[in-house]
Amino acid sequence: MKAVCWNGPVDIKVEDVPDPKILNPRDAVVRITATAICGSDLHLYNGFIPTLQKGDILGHEFMGEVMEVGREVKNLRVGQKVVVPFCIACGRCWYCQNELYSLCDNSNPNAWMAEKLFGHSPAGLFGYSHMTGGYAGGQAEYVRVPFADVGPLPVPDGIEDEKVLFLSDIFPTGWMAAENAEIQPGDTVAVWGCGPVGQFAIQSAWMMGAGRVIAIDRFPERLLLAQSWGRAEIIDYEEVDSVIDTLRDMTGGRGPDRCIDAVGMEAHGHTLDALYDKAKQAVRMETDRPHVLREAIMVCRKGGTLSVPGVYGGFIDKFPMGAVMNKGLTIKTGQTHMQRYMRPLLEKVLNGEIDLSKIITHRLDLDDAPGAYATFKKKEDHCIKVVMKPGSNGHAHRHNGSGNGRGDAHA
Ligand SMILES: [Zn+2]
Ligand SMILES: [Zn+2]
Repeated sequence: MKAVCWNGPVDIKVEDVPDPKILNPRDAVVRITATAICGSDLHLYNGFIPTLQKGDILGHEFMGEVMEVGREVKNLRVGQKVVVPFCIACGRCWYCQNELYSLCDNSNPNAWMAEKLFGHSPAGLFGYSHMTGGYAGGQAEYVRVPFADVGPLPVPDGIEDEKVLFLSDIFPTGWMAAENAEIQPGDTVAVWGCGPVGQFAIQSAWMMGAGRVIAIDRFPERLLLAQSWGRAEIIDYEEVDSVIDTLRDMTGGRGPDRCIDAVGMEAHGHTLDALYDKAKQAVRMETDRPHVLREAIMVCRKGGTLSVPGVYGGFIDKFPMGAVMNKGLTIKTGQTHMQRYMRPLLEKVLNGEIDLSKIITHRLDLDDAPGAYATFKKKEDHCIKVVMKPGSNGHAHRHNGSGNGRGDAHA
């Protein structure tokens, strides 16, 4: 089959690799009908995530048709359309039993790697380095889905892929970001980053009763979408001297009640601390650039909440813990507990409460992945979200049920 393989920093190729097959009784093999590139894929693309290896198949946002199921998968049938969540969860461990699916104790066979860096390991993730399991991702024609009796969400026949694909990550992630922000009716919510997760956090904030939403970014097309579709007040951070002063002015000096960092470890900025991070990260003295995090902490109103859906990978410098403590802030974060949110959020889609396809700007074939990554990274061509459909150029591949997906791990 064809798959998008990482070849080294800023170098991906569409390669022919062996087809995935059922390895465990709870596996399924899914034929991918649509897959997306995520902002967090750019951290891999750019080489900021350790334990990624040459040849690894990328992609954690995908959906498709069930081709084959292991003997213990009773809830899916061959031919069914499913959306697959990015985090892999066993459904049986203490964490899964407590609906903390992204913290599953059984789905990362390389837990020891993550334990070295984090103390404990999160769940296994599709297409996201060996530290999170080394699972082959879904930017491919086929994928093996472990614990398929727990993760994949069947969707009604006939619904367009574009309307439900983002239940695989970014809508639940934007939703959990808003939930973690502990929004009370009438609250002013500031969202840093108007990429796809930021956009869905904005939509979710309104659904949870926000009174005002203020969105911060620098790309005109993303700010425009936040303003039009998201009904947000907007700040172009390259057009203001200080985001902190601007937010303070907009809130009568008080600061936003809830702050959401939907940017993460590769924040840009032109303040002194942002230049410091850039220099330190470039020479690997700091893994992450936490400029947004500092800004949010400094401007958040006293007693407010900071929600962090943005991805961080390691250690940060100059963290204003004094402000967190003395202002009585709450910080909530985490990978999204996907399996908790997918079903209720599918209901919102089916009820017409939200159209997830609004953010798609590019529809391409899997073969176009190298160019698509480059365009998305540079935010060229007004790119907000790329969806790829394998075989849409007419080069479909027939699954022969043999071979072993590269990078697959035995969970
Ligand atoms: Zn994602
Ligand atoms: Zn589990």
